[in-house]
Amino acid sequence: MASTTRYCTRCERGFSSTDARQQHIKDSPNHNICHHCSSPLDYATERELDDHLERKIGTTI
Ligand SMILES: [Zn+2]
Ligand SMILES: [Zn+2]
Repeated sequence: MASTTRYCTRCERGFSSTDARQQHIKDSPNHNICHHCSSPLDYATERELDDHLERKIGTTI
């Protein structure tokens, strides 16, 4: 397993290029990336991302 940069461990899927993998992460509901952080984290669920964003942006409901 040398080409881990082309492999999505979360979805257990391989891709032909790192770009293809990036595209997959953008499109997949299995990935929830924070677009507000400079070094984005990939959250497992939308809920986790929401939680993070609430803390980050400081929205109070
Ligand atoms: Zn994936
Ligand atoms: Zn963030």
